[in-house]
Amino acid sequence: MSYISPSYSRSAELFLEAQNLFPGGVNSPVRAFSQVGGTPLFITKAKGPMVWDEDGNSYIDYVGSYGPAILGHAHPEVAESITNALNHGFSFGSPTAKETKLAKMIMELMPSIEMLRFVSSGTEACMSAIRVARGYTGRDKIIKFSGCYHGHADMLLVQAGSGAASCGVPVSPGVTSKAAFDTLVAPYNDLEAVEDLFCEYKDQIAAIIVEPIVGNCSFIRPVAGFLEGLRQICTDQKALLIFDEVMTGFRVGLSGVQGLVQCKPDITTLGKVIGGGLPIGAFGGSREIMKRVAPMGAIYQAGTLSGNPISVSCGIKTLELLREKYCFTFLSAHVKRLLSGLKQVASDNNIPFVADSEGGMFGFSFSEKSITNSEDMAATNSQIFTRFFHKMLEGGIYLAPSAYEAGFVSFAHSNDEIDKTITIASKVFPLLKKDV
Ligand SMILES: *Cc1c(COP(=O)(O)O)cnc(C)c1O
Repeated sequence: MSYISPSYSRSAELFLEAQNLFPGGVNSPVRAFSQVGGTPLFITKAKGPMVWDEDGNSYIDYVGSYGPAILGHAHPEVAESITNALNHGFSFGSPTAKETKLAKMIMELMPSIEMLRFVSSGTEACMSAIRVARGYTGRDKIIKFSGCYHGHADMLLVQAGSGAASCGVPVSPGVTSKAAFDTLVAPYNDLEAVEDLFCEYKDQIAAIIVEPIVGNCSFIRPVAGFLEGLRQICTDQKALLIFDEVMTGFRVGLSGVQGLVQCKPDITTLGKVIGGGLPIGAFGGSREIMKRVAPMGAIYQAGTLSGNPISVSCGIKTLELLREKYCFTFLSAHVKRLLSGLKQVASDNNIPFVADSEGGMFGFSFSEKSITNSEDMAATNSQIFTRFFHKMLEGGIYLAPSAYEAGFVSFAHSNDEIDKTITIASKVFPLLKKDV
């Protein structure tokens, strides 16, 4: 390699101290690098497509805070709107005009949402959406797909994707068998399995929750007809279809996956990009369903910091810029340039490698065949991923420290960063060969 191996000594020191204070030294498991080993980077600042660690190393960032940073880090116009909002107070526990503004922006871009509620995380959004689906239908059971992640609420922590798979704990201790009892699991892209569940549990299934493009089990695209098939089954069986667009919303395109396919969900969950990097989540759907939520209806749901004015200000500016200044076709082309470069380098070195993307979200795997469900993903080569991850990091490229996480390109990434990434990869791939 043409570069000198960087030092991570300050990060290592901080990690040692943090391990005494936080389980695994972190406040969310994937950050601990436990899947790839080594020292997690302690980040001091981020700007545009770059992040800097405590040792002064800089990296081209493809983590993007696991999704929210679609405009790149610390976009000046977004920073300005946060600063302005800060001067007016941080939280009121009262409604604000800003919440109305952000809700209207979301609904304009996702017309399947006629009413919504803001919460503080994607986890809360999915947890609440399930409660609403159960309350609305009067049924208890839900279907989720193996490999899909919908946050860490008990009933959804059943054969979850990235976070849980990374730890090798598919069903977490502390989740009671009763909480998991009403969660039925089907393989992704398998309509027949879903039909079978509806036969077996006739009139008992409240909803199907699905990542309409999976980003928590590497990157899995729905096969043609899969989402449309789910829509048809739900309509026929009077169950609700929930699209978890926490990751894909305003990331794969301006209207999420529901803007790209021919079918609409009954309920959508959102998070990540709609807060532009500050904590937020939302769930919404038809007026008919959402009017059942308290205080209009009897289905309880609440939050002290829900619709927080700083998060909402950050979200409004982020969506405004996405709508008015930036173009997803351009972002898509950037991501495709990155992936075709990586595929070329992999094939030059005879290393099995597949990659796919939609808008600003991508995934790659060391595999002969493309990934269609969590079983395919489990069969990929994790040792070679680990080696690739570390060598890319040494070369100044920050990828997610888990083969199960999607990658994110922002509007701040230019051809320069993309091409530099491919150049580093062209030096890294030959080093991987002995592991194949
Ligand atoms: C990140 C994510 C969640 C959970 O959101 P948090 O804000 O981390 O609670 C839920 N669903 C999907 C698809 C996600 O990617």
